[in-house]
Amino acid sequence: MSAPKFRNFKCVPRMVFGRGSFNQLDDILAEQREGGSGWVVFVVDDVHQNRELAKRVPAKAQDLIIWANVAKEPSTIQVDAFTDQVKAHASTLPDSVIGIGGGSVLDLAKAVSLMLTNEGGSAKYQGWDLIQRAAVHHIGIPTISGTGAEASRTAVLTGPERKLGLNSDFTVYDQIVMDPELIAGVPKNQWFYTGMDCYIHGIEALNGTFINEFARAFGDKSLNLCREVYLEDHPDSDEKLMMASYMGGMSIAYSQVGACHALSYGLSYVFGYHHGIGNCIAFDVLDGYYADGVKEFREMVKKHNIDLPKNLSATWSENDIDRMISICKGMKPLWQNVYGDDWEREVTDDKLRALYKRM
Ligand code: NAD
Ligand code: ZN
Repeated sequence: MSAPKFRNFKCVPRMVFGRGSFNQLDDILAEQREGGSGWVVFVVDDVHQNRELAKRVPAKAQDLIIWANVAKEPSTIQVDAFTDQVKAHASTLPDSVIGIGGGSVLDLAKAVSLMLTNEGGSAKYQGWDLIQRAAVHHIGIPTISGTGAEASRTAVLTGPERKLGLNSDFTVYDQIVMDPELIAGVPKNQWFYTGMDCYIHGIEALNGTFINEFARAFGDKSLNLCREVYLEDHPDSDEKLMMASYMGGMSIAYSQVGACHALSYGLSYVFGYHHGIGNCIAFDVLDGYYADGVKEFREMVKKHNIDLPKNLSATWSENDIDRMISICKGMKPLWQNVYGDDWEREVTDDKLRALYKRM
């Protein structure tokens, strides 16, 4: 019997947390610019373009700002176009790539920093540990919280064949800036959907077969913070949600997500549902898997009067459902986390079809 393999995972080495900490970005960058090419790239969610935050981005004359539209989730095409734009800006590599936005922009900035040093286009690197060279220094600054993308070793991209991340140690941010002030203006439904991504990370990690004390410590705390935010309306909700997101990311880094994420990937690939709302749609039919979590989730939906799309399957063709089943079934590690090594016997087309039909 071979010895068990334990994950030797990389964490974000430097982080700043606190209200107003965004103001320190200029100093952080000054250190980075020293002895380098002197210029940096900001990839910023275009929702901020005409807002206060746009004026606070500490860009110098030589820097490049890319306003990113995230109406669609990040794609390999978008990443490659941004990378070309950065390469065309100067003959040297930038000293840092700074992503300012939600999970979408955080993933875009990670991917651009990787593609500046790895040739051949981002689709080539969708998968696990395919990246060959260290990325350009990169900094993540969330302006909406829940995905845990600030903590994770993946940048999720929709590619020509599938939605799959650039998973590698090089993907992890070199620095994150967690300023709860920045998440204040998020519209309510979106605040809920993205926050529930975090809640669901906790539920799936804690109920999975991969659970261990490391993942449980972060997962338990993350879930309790979500409860303070979504059930108790705590006055420090922005601080709490920001930490819940980071800790949820740390929990799944040492465990795995589960059935909800597997179903949600199908919804996203076939119908383009964004990650947060897709998870909410899927989670609502998973009483059979996560009874207590789903019950609590419904309390949160009710308390905040959230619009959760219903009766979607009425307009889906059998072919749509078959395609979703195929994507969903392909999520091997997620199902392994749900059922253990015997997962293939459990994850049948009929079972998945019945779940999709309830959506
Ligand atoms: P998002 O980044 O797609 O943003 C959602 C919406 O909120 C957008 O319209 C955006 O413009 C808006 N927004 C962001 N900040 C705002 C602010 N301060 N005020 C007002 N509006 C604001 O949403 P998300 O849920 O954070 O991210 C989803 C993406 O993250 C998906 O592409 C998913 O695949 C990815 N993801 C990545 C990981 C990872 O570990 N890398 C994990 C989970 C999800
Ligand atoms: Zn998620």
